[in-house]
Amino acid sequence: MADAHGTKRYDRVLLKISGEALMGDQGYGLHPPTVERIAAEVKSVHDMGVEVCMVIGGGNIFRGLQGSAQGMERTTADYMGMLATVMNALAMQGALEAHGIHTRVISAITMNEVAEPYIRRRAVRHLEKKRVCIFAAGTGNPYFTTDTAATLRANEMACQAIFKGTKVDGVYDKDPAKHDDAVRYDHVSYDEVLQKHLGVMDASAIALARDNNLPIIVFSLDEPGGFRGILAGEGTFTKVSD
Ligand code: UDP
Repeated sequence: MADAHGTKRYDRVLLKISGEALMGDQGYGLHPPTVERIAAEVKSVHDMGVEVCMVIGGGNIFRGLQGSAQGMERTTADYMGMLATVMNALAMQGALEAHGIHTRVISAITMNEVAEPYIRRRAVRHLEKKRVCIFAAGTGNPYFTTDTAATLRANEMACQAIFKGTKVDGVYDKDPAKHDDAVRYDHVSYDEVLQKHLGVMDASAIALARDNNLPIIVFSLDEPGGFRGILAGEGTFTKVSD
């Protein structure tokens, strides 16, 4: 749907952030003021009446690939990574509820004492009731990432787009932290992302988004008010679509 200015209006979106987005400048783990800041960003979008899903990575605590590189069995390491995402989801839940927002942590790995199991229809109902759904434990399968989990859940929940909050305001042709002449794309196609290895998300997540025509909007989460601004059609970002 578009408003009077022709700006696309979003009713339901999924915000994907990496676990590292929650660690602030610490280099590891959770930084509560940073979690709180991101919760405030989510609140401002929720206040617009947008239904919000979230997927948070686990890289601030544990990554399966790192564990397996150090001799751990890959699947065990991946399950540890998935459990890390549950910790991050609980931290975000606490921060959102402190703002008075009703939330559910919904886990792809059953752990009834901690989080709801994933039942698609139930999750949709939560969204309809304006609860923020935080999808935890990735896809529940080793060898995947939370980017793929985000794409999967966004499709299942019929989100209009995935908003990938990063440290930079979009997708660049090369790393803007290392190259002064890096150029930001306003728009880039899924196939270009894959061919040029642009590092938006891993290849399976991009392919799943492409095959289901799900746009990915990459924006800076470091910009205060950035998430709300992008939803209102302002600010800089890169749109990945056909
Ligand atoms: N993971 C997994 N299956 C999934 C999602 C995640 O095995 O469906 C594991 C994997 O080991 C990964 C870790 O969880 O390294 C943390 O997720 P991710 O690397 O996507 O976190 P981010 O980079 O977004 O912080």
